[in-house]
Amino acid sequence: MVQASLFRRAQFVTSVRDLHTLPPEGSGEIAFAGRSNSGKSSALNTLADQRRLAFVSKTPGRTQLINYFDIGGNNFIVDLPGYGYAKVPEAIRAPWGRDLGEYVRTRASLRGLALIMDARHPMTDLDLELLSWFRPTMKPVHVLLTKSDKLSRDEGKRTLMGVAAKLNLLAGHYSAQLFSSLKKAGIEEAETVFAGWLGIERRPILRDTAANAATGNREPGASRNKKAPGLRGLKPGDKMP
Ligand code: GDP
Repeated sequence: MVQASLFRRAQFVTSVRDLHTLPPEGSGEIAFAGRSNSGKSSALNTLADQRRLAFVSKTPGRTQLINYFDIGGNNFIVDLPGYGYAKVPEAIRAPWGRDLGEYVRTRASLRGLALIMDARHPMTDLDLELLSWFRPTMKPVHVLLTKSDKLSRDEGKRTLMGVAAKLNLLAGHYSAQLFSSLKKAGIEEAETVFAGWLGIERRPILRDTAANAATGNREPGASRNKKAPGLRGLKPGDKMP
């Protein structure tokens, strides 16, 4: 069987307004968080190889909700509301903090947090606040430094090292990588991390076959598996060089 990308079958399931209406706990959930405009929706769409998947979360009325996407095997992506948007009134921000802080701390099936940061503005105060809420869970956090196409190779490398250094100062399981939705860079690295969290072994990707051609499946090695510009991400437990 051809190995589709981890999130390829992702389908919107439900929007959750408060913690009392969360779906029953499944096998595993990966939460995606990040500042508004960090590139979170684009990253989810890129990982799912679907153009409009996460824009469900951006439709009017859903931006402040927790949006669930089924990725098969009773596993879910949980798209958390973007935070830090200046125009969001305090009245909306406060419940975000209370509810989402509680969600990340108490959800048993939550396997880890994917934290999306604009590579040009990483580790903002709000990112650090979210990390501090999450820290007591001792669950892993993987930082996607997205829009990396806007940085030169050296700037990207420096940014990744700088973020790695800051993460190393926090106790916990952290990893980070460069990512670009525009260039489709860093997909395989991210999928490997997330599959590991969900206990899914990623099978080797098969090259072009008649079956692929017949089903219209894209040859995955082509554009989905480009490496983020020249850099290996920081893995949990790695020390700074
Ligand atoms: P969200 O608010 O965090 O969900 O962010 P979006 O995914 O909507 O992206 C915000 C803006 O950044 C949009 O204009 C996107 O086109 C742009 N963007 C997102 N990802 C990338 C990327 O990898 N490279 C570049 N150059 N722009 C991106």
